[in-house]
Amino acid sequence: MKRIEEIKPLLETLKRVVITMHQKPDADAMGSSLALYHYLKQKGHEVTVISPTNFPDFLNWMPGSQEVLDFESSQDKAMKALEGVELLFCLDFNALYRTKNMEPYLAALNCAKILIDHHLEPQPVFDYGVSDTTAASTALLVYETIHKMGEERYINDAMAQCIYAGTMTDTGSFRFASTSSRVHRMVADLLDHGLNHELIHQAIYDNFLENRLRFLGHSLLNRMEVYYEYNTAMIAIPYTDLKRFDLQTGDTEGVVNFLLSIQGIKMAALIIDRHQEVKLSFRSKGDFDVNTFARKYFDGGGHFHAAGGHSADSLEVTVQRFVKAIAENEEALQ
Ligand code: 5GP
Ligand code: MN
Repeated sequence: MKRIEEIKPLLETLKRVVITMHQKPDADAMGSSLALYHYLKQKGHEVTVISPTNFPDFLNWMPGSQEVLDFESSQDKAMKALEGVELLFCLDFNALYRTKNMEPYLAALNCAKILIDHHLEPQPVFDYGVSDTTAASTALLVYETIHKMGEERYINDAMAQCIYAGTMTDTGSFRFASTSSRVHRMVADLLDHGLNHELIHQAIYDNFLENRLRFLGHSLLNRMEVYYEYNTAMIAIPYTDLKRFDLQTGDTEGVVNFLLSIQGIKMAALIIDRHQEVKLSFRSKGDFDVNTFARKYFDGGGHFHAAGGHSADSLEVTVQRFVKAIAENEEALQ
């Protein structure tokens, strides 16, 4: 894979560009993609942003979000963009299966594929890119890429909002270990550009419906298990809860982080029956590596302190497998 700044000559002539991200995009996937979109649009390129699925409502304030095509509901338009694509940017994921139904179409493309990502172990399918697992967010990498190309004069308010949102959420509001001096330097620069950070925090965190808060209370009260012998806490959500609280995409995000606030807990898991499959989210503190854990037991991956996976078993069986897996890791969890 050639270095990301080597794409600069490719951008000197106008191109048809597609930017895509992982399915069920979070604020970093959307924010990094839209920041790049605004940069490339200013340069005059023809740019289409495609999300493999829909995205949470709490992201629809992001400048440019109305232009994003949902591959599931607008497949025809998205396929048209893919047919003529000259440069494909893949942001905030590094394995094509994470684009769900788009995977076969992306795999078949002959154009240059460009990666901007911070997850571990990228697939060897990218021609150019940056894969930096020390970066707190993909949005930070977009900001740094634009600087590396000497194009920082293009960073405007819309881009600053997108970049800030992605970095704020991926760092747990600047508290995770990944919150480096690089992050703070970037944020200082964005603030100097006039960014209103308070509004972004409100747009993302103070924008839920009542049912989401009631669901959170219900989950903590009735669905939480704490395994003190393994310093692990878990919430398992049956499909009936998703229906009862009428949860929408994104409503379960952040729930897993509450578990880590229990004294002594090193590992947290949120296990959700999504009907088609069971999805697992893992978070950790200190030296327990949930990326390796997710890969080994649940066909997943992610980062050292935040990872996910999935299971084709029932919720009950998945929970049993999870408990067996933490028991096998008892020593590492001390
Ligand atoms: P979340 O728990 O927020 O869904 O995901 C946490 C982290 O793990 C994210 O960085 C996400 O990209 C990654 N992740 C979640 N699910 C999967 C999965 O099934 N496979 C892989 N490789 N990574 C995942
Ligand atoms: Mn990310």
